[in-house]
Amino acid sequence: MQRLMARKEKVIQDQAKGILDLFQRHRIHYLRGKGAIEKPGSATAQLGDGKIIEVPWDRLIVATGTQPCSFPAFPFDGQQILSSNDALCLQEVPASIMVLGGGVIGCDSPSFWLSLALRSRWWRPRIVSSLSPQSMKIVPR
Ligand SMILES: Cc1cc2nc3c(=O)[nH]c(=O)nc-3n(C[C@H](O)[C@H](O)[C@H](O)COP(=O)(O)OP(=O)(O)OC[C@H]3O[C@@H](n4cnc5c(N)ncnc54)[C@H](O)[C@@H]3O)c2cc1C
Repeated sequence: MQRLMARKEKVIQDQAKGILDLFQRHRIHYLRGKGAIEKPGSATAQLGDGKIIEVPWDRLIVATGTQPCSFPAFPFDGQQILSSNDALCLQEVPASIMVLGGGVIGCDSPSFWLSLALRSRWWRPRIVSSLSPQSMKIVPR
């Protein structure tokens, strides 16, 4: 598992470096920080050192992604109750794991855990409907 995680980190770093190189080559101005939209035509970025700078814009694309959603009664604790992101950071293979959810990640991850010879139980009230009818038949197997 440690080798797997080390490999994962290397792939992430290589990919991130590749993207930063592309930004540089195409003279894309990259700011690392927390963005906020203050008013039309202007955003602020809080940089790593806490400094806040103003960034004017003509067109704005918001691409802030998504976050895993927990059940209020069972908040993620990173130990027993894991988000799909937490599951990618485990340092040891657990004795067993239950995957809750039948979306793309919920369908994908049981096969990953099975490849690590782990007993994986899959709770899927409804399999993601964007799959083709053929895939819908195959996935539960
Ligand atoms: C476990 C897992 C497995 C996946 N597997 C696959 C796969 O095999 N194939 C596939 O195609 N897709 C896969 N996906 C989905 C894929 O990762 C997402 O669809 C994709 O990352 C979405 O890209 P995005 O740019 O919209 O958002 P993200 O990749 O989530 O990026 C959003 C970025 O915005 C930043 N951000 C948020 N708020 C602010 C703010 N206020 N200021 C500045 N920055 C901010 C975040 O820090 C983040 O860096 C997987 C996702 C997960 C979680």
